[in-house]
Amino acid sequence: MVTSERGIWLVIYAADCVPALIVDVKTPAIAAVHAGWRGVAAGVVPAAIARMREAFGTAPGRCIAMLGPAIGGCCYEVDAPVARAMGGAGWWPRAARPTGPERWHLDLRTAVHEQLVASGVPARRVATVPYCTACRPDLFFSYRRDGICGRMAACISLRP
Ligand SMILES: [Zn+2]
Repeated sequence: MVTSERGIWLVIYAADCVPALIVDVKTPAIAAVHAGWRGVAAGVVPAAIARMREAFGTAPGRCIAMLGPAIGGCCYEVDAPVARAMGGAGWWPRAARPTGPERWHLDLRTAVHEQLVASGVPARRVATVPYCTACRPDLFFSYRRDGICGRMAACISLRP
């Protein structure tokens, strides 16, 4: 979701997937993006940057992004179909660690961070909340850990 309208809240729900909040401070305009492995594979975060560029004239270089709590590379094991879906992305060796035959531990936030930088957002302007949702039952819901569970909301709005 993207908007340049003030006073509108963009809200996404996640429990392990990466909540990405983006602000173009100059225009201003904002985006809220939900990036699980399918979204990462499909490039949903770069698509949001492209949409901001089309709709608002956003320059990625003046954006700030925040990646919220998500499942970490410590806990997120994926198999060959997920690996194949990433289509040999250049960031794969930096985001995925082989742990067995056709098995990897994937850090989705590293992948999203790399996608943002490839879209023109300066690396120093991408902040990441370091917690792993699966490691911290005291703080977060985790779909991978609990199956049926609640969701966290990630929210962004331009002040009226
Ligand atoms: Zn973990």
